[in-house]
Amino acid sequence: MKDWFYRLAPVILSVTGFPIIICLFFIHDILYDRWQWMFWLILLLFNVCSGVLMGTLVKKLYHGVSKDPLTGLYNRRCFYDRIDYEIEKMKRTKLPLSFALIDIDNFKTINDTYGHLEGDKVLVELARIFKTQARSGDTIVRWGGEEFAMILPETDKSGVLAFAERIRKLVEFSNCKYKITVCIGITTVYQEHDAEKIMSVADRALYKAKEKKNAVVYGVFNNITT
Ligand code: GH3
Ligand code: MG
Ligand code: MG
Repeated sequence: MKDWFYRLAPVILSVTGFPIIICLFFIHDILYDRWQWMFWLILLLFNVCSGVLMGTLVKKLYHGVSKDPLTGLYNRRCFYDRIDYEIEKMKRTKLPLSFALIDIDNFKTINDTYGHLEGDKVLVELARIFKTQARSGDTIVRWGGEEFAMILPETDKSGVLAFAERIRKLVEFSNCKYKITVCIGITTVYQEHDAEKIMSVADRALYKAKEKKNAVVYGVFNNITT
């Protein structure tokens, strides 16, 4: 189901009152007293209200299972749904698909020095920076802990390299209270690949970037280039 369905669920489900309006249109001639009118109007109201309530519930449940409560980003579960969708799309469009795995450098030191609450604020601030850089079709998720993952459709190697460098610099020179840097492992696929394989290539690139810190490394299948 598309993301917009869940966001608009309260509106969409409230339309369940619509068939009652159609019924009323056909039967209004045979409704002869106000009690009958009242019955139909209460039924209509009940349908609309229950639709809105159910829709709100669906929306909240969707947020609960798909979003990270701290940063408001999507979580890893959503990532795999999205990756499958994007790979399917790539098979049709034949356009390159890029990925990025981001890990905060020495994040444990921030927690140990300033406390976990300050660490949380750093995560929220970085998520905000990533969101400002993403295009509408991009997917950003909190991969886990102090790691984030991104899917960048219709982006080739030079595009993802420029994007990752921009993110790296933005973080390094951000107004964040603490000195923060990130490592980014990136890769691009030009043909269908297994999601696990793609992420393992990005992960290997990230691992390589960690040797330097504050670095971007491009991972190629079966090899790695900086
Ligand atoms: P490296 O540069 O090698 O990545 O080192 P690092 O310290 O960033 O990585 P490490 O894996 O040693 O530590 C990650 C830390 O992230 C440890 C953990 O307490 C912290 N962490 C994970 N999730 C959260 C969270 O939700 N909030 C906060 N404040 N800290 C978190
Ligand atoms: Mg990590
Ligand atoms: Mg780290």
